[in-house]
Amino acid sequence: MTSKSPASATLAVWAGEDRSRRYQQATQIPVVRSISFGYDDLAMWHDVALGRQPGHIYSRNTNPTVEAFEDKIRILEGAEAATSFTSGMAAISATLFTLLKPGQRIVSIRDTYGGTNKLFTEFLPSFGIDVCLCDTTDAAAIEAQVAAGCQVLYLESPTNPTVKVVDIERLARAAHAAGALVVVDNTLATPINQNPLRLGADLVIHSASKFLGGHADALGGVACGSRALIHQLYHFREINGAALSAEDAYSLLRGMKTLALRIERQNESALRIAKWLQQHPLVDQVNYPGLESHPDHDIARRQMRGFGGVLSFSVVGGLEAIRVFLPKLQYANRAANLGSVETVVGPPVVTSHVECTDAERAAAGIPEGLVRYSTGIEDVQDLIADLEQALQALR
Ligand code: PLP
Repeated sequence: MTSKSPASATLAVWAGEDRSRRYQQATQIPVVRSISFGYDDLAMWHDVALGRQPGHIYSRNTNPTVEAFEDKIRILEGAEAATSFTSGMAAISATLFTLLKPGQRIVSIRDTYGGTNKLFTEFLPSFGIDVCLCDTTDAAAIEAQVAAGCQVLYLESPTNPTVKVVDIERLARAAHAAGALVVVDNTLATPINQNPLRLGADLVIHSASKFLGGHADALGGVACGSRALIHQLYHFREINGAALSAEDAYSLLRGMKTLALRIERQNESALRIAKWLQQHPLVDQVNYPGLESHPDHDIARRQMRGFGGVLSFSVVGGLEAIRVFLPKLQYANRAANLGSVETVVGPPVVTSHVECTDAERAAAGIPEGLVRYSTGIEDVQDLIADLEQALQALR
């Protein structure tokens, strides 16, 4: 045995896979489809129901397969506890509705994922919660708003689809000085590239439907943090009912075994593709935090171990040009998703920002012709050749 703590690649395979969770001698965690767990001994039933003894009562509360998934991500994020949800949006809404009460205030950034932004602009205000959205890149403005008083600072880094990076450590310090909790959506970075809890966040959230699962075949969400905070979220979730299914938990567990391998490849390929696109005469703008020209490159280097698989770029000719360019791509799914083993492309105008007006998109720095490119695990030379032949169609 070595005293060095295991690397992420080892944890991605082994964390949560305890022998006690396996069925008979099976090497894989079973899918426990049972929604109820029976007890002949009333005293034992009582103790399990009150949490005095380990065990399960009903799968809307806890389930062995789901618990294994929660343990794997919890360990990768270096958290005390984790609780999972049916989707990333279920995790985000449960977190915000648990932490905030009418009359309280949340500070966030303008560039959060579209669904999160809808919570901020449509749902939270109708429950009497004051939402303040700041320019994502203006750390001083965020600090000032936080100092003016709030209960929660909500961040996402890198953002989707313009891949802006926020200084988590600096903003977490400001939030704690004001007595606020810090929540970070770590979906795009994954725990392989970034651990927000180590940078001062109180809660880290993932849409597990993306890189964690990695195969675009399971929806899920998860929040990780201290035992006390996660217990509050868990309590909301057991009553609200948005519990992850055992089948999806199994798919996510299986996908996560290759998380480190996939992310290493996706980090490397995305950087090479971003550099290649940057010198292409038919490409206007490339957003990728790994590029030295990216305005947040220094922050990204400080807080991330890799820059992730997602980049965005706009082609010369705007919306008309991408109508021609996108169908030509052979090795890419044109879809509203990211983080899969296959490359996925989608223009924010029909995906993440479909409900925004032109003016709102322009204010978010999203030109009409922007393409979000989520790099898969294909050979990078094949991906570059594919991009080149599709760009040539624009000549
Ligand atoms: N957070 C980010 C950064 C996302 O990109 C998404 C979905 O695209 C979500 C959260 C929502 O996750 P889900 O689709 O699992 O509800």
